[in-house]
Amino acid sequence: RKGNVIITGASSGLGLATAKAIGESGDWHVIMACRDFLKAEKAAKSAGIPKESYTVMHLDLASLESVRQFVDTFRRSGRPLDALVCNAAVYLPTAKEPTFTADGFELSVGTNHLGHFLLSRLLLDDLKQSDHPQKRLIIVGSITGNTNTLAGNVPPKANLGDLRGLVGGLNSLNCSPMIDGGEFDGAKAYKDSKVCNMLTMQEFHRRFHEETGITFASLYPGCIAETGLFRNHIPLFRALFPPFQKYITKGYVSEAEAGKRLAQVVRDPSLSKSGVYWSWNSTSSSFENQLSKEASDTEKARKLWEVSEKLVGLA
Ligand code: NDP
Repeated sequence: RKGNVIITGASSGLGLATAKAIGESGDWHVIMACRDFLKAEKAAKSAGIPKESYTVMHLDLASLESVRQFVDTFRRSGRPLDALVCNAAVYLPTAKEPTFTADGFELSVGTNHLGHFLLSRLLLDDLKQSDHPQKRLIIVGSITGNTNTLAGNVPPKANLGDLRGLVGGLNSLNCSPMIDGGEFDGAKAYKDSKVCNMLTMQEFHRRFHEETGITFASLYPGCIAETGLFRNHIPLFRALFPPFQKYITKGYVSEAEAGKRLAQVVRDPSLSKSGVYWSWNSTSSSFENQLSKEASDTEKARKLWEVSEKLVGLA
């Protein structure tokens, strides 16, 4: 039978390119889990993804109720689940004030981390039941959360501190909208959320890999300087960022190439090792990359898991 993969945020950028790379192979069906149904349908059509290779299902990660509804809808479709890709993200680098999810969490961490945390925890049971030879849960990471790299050292740097803001519910009422309890900073909130994504992948690996055989992995696909992620940035930045990445840092990668890389992590038999953060070198070969000290802190990963469970109503 065909494999079934859910990709969140498949209506643009990396998610769409990955849906295309996987959908075109013919041996996978892609469930595009998107907040804007029409946009996703149009995007799939104009990308030329074969009609029989995908289904769009509504998912708004900024609402825990919507995450639960999505899981119900998916289960009612009767499809087994063989791979889940947590890809969607928001990035609000110029926001002066925080905005919040339906449940009152700061939007970047609420969407990128907490929404995906609930989704992947609920769908773990479905992955366990799959009889596919390769069952995988992939959480897209980023270099920007890794302070052991040049890009990760551009201020404001990621830092989860002692998680006091997260413990307080990530809103301004109790404590702070930032995980570390500091002042709101949209760029930092995004980087913090990516550290959460990478810590969560490793905690999944420690807790469930041996028991379930599921491969848990994360990746940095390269700098895809033209995606919608930068839509909220100032116009000058948007104009200069792609050539800067192409010619100066040489970290630039096209959406299509990044999509092929993520597709590899989903289905390539040679990338089946669990607990790995994948990256690619200049000749596009994959390698196991090192995470920063904070992004591989096992104690922080455990605490993040426990606090997140409480916030999404699992504990
Ligand atoms: P895009 O903005 O193009 O894609 C983000 C996707 O997330 C969109 O489809 C968007 O939906 C979706 N999304 C946002 N909010 C929600 C929500 N509440 N519920 C459901 N879906 C939502 O950015 P990219 O393709 O660049 O980003 C994809 C991933 O790649 C992210 O995890 C990002 O951190 C990561 N990444 C990107 C890099 C880059 O250089 N661009 C580098 C490293 C990692 P909609 O279309 O409706 O807006």
